[in-house]
Amino acid sequence: MKVLVVNSGSSSIKYQLFDMTDESVLAKGLVERIGIPDSIINHYPSGKEPIITHQDIPDHRVGIKLMMDALLHPEYGIIKDVLEISAVGHRVVHGGEKFSGSVLLTDEVMDALKECIELAPLHNPPNILGIEVCKELMPRVPQIGVFDTAFHQTIPECAYLYGIPYKYYKKYKVRRYGFHGTSHKYVAQKAADILEKPLEELKIITCHLGNGSSITAVKNGISVDTSLGFGTVAGIVMGTRCGDVDPAVIPFLMDKEKLSIEEINKIIYKESGLIGLSEGISSDNRDLGKRAKQGDERAIRALSLLDYGIKKYIGAYAAAMGGVDVVVFTAGIGENAWKVRKGACEGLEFLGIKIDPKKNNSSNKEVIISEDDSKVKVMVIPTNEEWMIAKDTAKISASL
Ligand code: ADP
Repeated sequence: MKVLVVNSGSSSIKYQLFDMTDESVLAKGLVERIGIPDSIINHYPSGKEPIITHQDIPDHRVGIKLMMDALLHPEYGIIKDVLEISAVGHRVVHGGEKFSGSVLLTDEVMDALKECIELAPLHNPPNILGIEVCKELMPRVPQIGVFDTAFHQTIPECAYLYGIPYKYYKKYKVRRYGFHGTSHKYVAQKAADILEKPLEELKIITCHLGNGSSITAVKNGISVDTSLGFGTVAGIVMGTRCGDVDPAVIPFLMDKEKLSIEEINKIIYKESGLIGLSEGISSDNRDLGKRAKQGDERAIRALSLLDYGIKKYIGAYAAAMGGVDVVVFTAGIGENAWKVRKGACEGLEFLGIKIDPKKNNSSNKEVIISEDDSKVKVMVIPTNEEWMIAKDTAKISASL
């Protein structure tokens, strides 16, 4: 059974074709700079040379057509006929309150997705466009939607409501949704597998730290709280997003600087976090790490908020779950930045968290980095959202 996973973003399309019988990746690729000059399609067929093509890609329709051409190419393609693909799994960022699991993308579901556009105006439109083009090009192949928000639909009311008048929840569904659900679910399950313990018996804190970051409390296999909320801007500081801010700051700044809604949105989503705190040095953890090593106060300051924020959420979620058995680090920073892991876990010995510096520095991809006698197991687990999407897609299409 072959499953194609498509992640259609605003200016890029990522894809992976899986053979579900042996869980192998047959091909993967990235269509970049859609609608921007110098578009590129990078196609990596397994066991063959990568193919990098520069060609104008004005829109997602052309991008997805090129993805299909690459997969079907007589020389570097992987399949001979579209119908070799059993199902297509699409990453969808926002499913609102309607979807607590993955679903077949029927016309009814597509209408519900369109209703979610106002909740994720940047992400859902390109996701929907990708689905529509795939449906057109592969009308006989089932298309499945896998939502970033779905895993968090188990969060209890006391954690998903905000302390604003309840009428805004009723009227506009203003609440915490949470994101990166596919990643949190994947690494939590993987941690249980590695420890050979049932997921249903564990209290796990999963730290997905990339350009966008979120931390989740996974109790007995379900998400009970998460640091991202209504938008993708709350929680710990991110590359360019501010993380938790006293709401009073927003109207104060709008008043003082005479800012429009667009301008304040740009500040909190694009000009804050690591790039804002470092006064423009970089949004990238690697660049800041280098500058911090040279003693640059601005980089040290930015990174100190990151470490502190992660530590604070670990403490909060241990309290929310009545304890913690496992802490998992994943995504670009979580998987690679030993200094951030060290900084975040320092001082948490009282919770039973003891990092082994040697293991923390190891370049092993999947590794337990806590000391042998640490009550809490601390682990690094590379995320694999595409694989999770493929698995859900295969399961749903098999049940059709
Ligand atoms: P996205 O959210 O865009 O998927 P990633 O998960 O790729 O982001 O994470 C990007 C972040 O990971 C960047 O801040 C980058 O600096 C950091 N990162 C990647 N590799 C390393 C590394 N070897 N050491 C430290 N940080 C790293």
